[in-house]
Amino acid sequence: MPKLSIVLPAYNEEQMIDKTAGVLSGLMEKEKIDYELVFVDDGSKDLTWNKIEKICNQNKRITGVHFSRNFGKESAIFAGLANAAGDCCVVMDCDLQHPPETVVEMYRFWEQGYEVVEGVKKSRGKESVLHKASAGLFYKMMSKAVKLDMSRASDFKLMDRKAVEALLAMPERNAFFRALSSWVGYRTTSVEFDVREREAGESKWSTWSLVKYAITNIVAFSTMPMQLVTIAGGLVFLVGLILGVQTLIKYFSGHAVEGFTTVILLVLIIGSIIMFSLGIIGYYISKIYEEVKGRPRYLISRTIRGTDHEIQEIK
Ligand code: UDP
Ligand code: MG
Repeated sequence: MPKLSIVLPAYNEEQMIDKTAGVLSGLMEKEKIDYELVFVDDGSKDLTWNKIEKICNQNKRITGVHFSRNFGKESAIFAGLANAAGDCCVVMDCDLQHPPETVVEMYRFWEQGYEVVEGVKKSRGKESVLHKASAGLFYKMMSKAVKLDMSRASDFKLMDRKAVEALLAMPERNAFFRALSSWVGYRTTSVEFDVREREAGESKWSTWSLVKYAITNIVAFSTMPMQLVTIAGGLVFLVGLILGVQTLIKYFSGHAVEGFTTVILLVLIIGSIIMFSLGIIGYYISKIYEEVKGRPRYLISRTIRGTDHEIQEIK
């Protein structure tokens, strides 16, 4: 059994597979770390799987997992962890935006007895203003929900086998990996890294998919939006009370009670708040519905397991 498994989710990364595998295996051999690479092809539409198959045949320390379709990065991470055999696992992007040297740094911490090593972004790399702003807002809410600072968190981290087993035992479908690894606890430390620029291929995240990701994960981790509904209800009640008192005063001081516009406005405002609230509750119910159905997180169509082959000792 290898000491370190590196899990690499890949979606349309045909240009990066060879390079990433080469860089990582070279580095691990140089550092004399007993390693394995687990590439998870998240239903790519390009030649990613062919590339993975090829490197699996060339290097016995590489495992390839092929999804039946695109299930998303979180699912790919979970599949990678489920198929990893190492005493500890590192999850990293396969576009080399997470610096490989940091993997070695994480591994050294693990050797010192740390069970979770979080990769923390020193800088966010090149991102558009809109992206930065929306990510900023999302992480503020997320940090509140998880009660941890998420603003510089990433999916790049090392986890001991204990933490990996704890994650895999979680039944939830809408799992937010980035936060769950801190949720499990254990002896934790962090290392900083600079997000590098992507060498080839393109980012799979549009602003819209980020918004969806944000909403899904806030709902998966927090009931705060539902509490907001209660607060909104309280505020509207307060406004109603004030208006009521004002009307009474006007009535008793002999003024005619007017206000057709006010009535229409109030109906509209309250109506929209009710609909908005129903929407939030509906979203939670839809998530409960998804969880109750208990469908698998992913479907694997093929696996090429490096560990089935003989693994040569690293001297
Ligand atoms: N990825 C994935 N499934 C998806 C989208 C992305 O497995 O549906 C992988 C992708 O191949 C990469 C990592 O997740 O290894 C990060 O994706 P990307 O580089 O597009 O995100 P960014 O670095 O721009 O945040
Ligand atoms: Mg990337």
